[in-house]
Amino acid sequence: KDAVEISLKDIDQLAKSSFPLCMRHMLDKLRENHHLKHGGRMQFGLFLKGAGLKLEDALAFWRAEFSQKVGSERFDKEYAYSIRHNYGKEGKRTDYTPYSCQKIISATPGVGDHHGCPYRHFGDENLRAALNKMGVGGHALEEIMDKVKNRHYQLACTLTFEATHGVSCDSGINHPNQYFSESQKVLRA
Ligand code: SF4
Repeated sequence: KDAVEISLKDIDQLAKSSFPLCMRHMLDKLRENHHLKHGGRMQFGLFLKGAGLKLEDALAFWRAEFSQKVGSERFDKEYAYSIRHNYGKEGKRTDYTPYSCQKIISATPGVGDHHGCPYRHFGDENLRAALNKMGVGGHALEEIMDKVKNRHYQLACTLTFEATHGVSCDSGINHPNQYFSESQKVLRA
């Protein structure tokens, strides 16, 4: 198995090179607000787990941000449990699976939520700005916006992958963790 393990210190750099837009966005918001609401903690937390972030690193990662907002005591009391829970260390000890694109696209993020799929849930201007920030412009950007207009969100994400990696992605994107591992495959080749 060509599993990648990600460590705490590499998260920001890996986000830039290999995270799909949905996950980059949540990392940005977490760094900015030192907080993510439940839907974001689930979607992003399970993605990081699927990308190979170990439980201890996950706790340190969330703690470093949340403690700036709610204090470390409250983090330990109210939030650490759910992270351990996601890793199957609490409650029913279910090993929770990272969300697929289909599940993320069908989410209904409310005000102050940052989970969901940007291709589906961002407005036109925000999406264009976010794609520009990833270095996507010109013809490629218009093609992506065209897919979005026709509600082909995963195809839009696939085109973004292709534009940012300079290779074709014949399988198409159907899972954020697949996006990540395909990206690592290309970049480590
Ligand atoms: Fe994330 Fe999937 Fe949407 Fe891409 S298509 S941004 S991987 S949810």
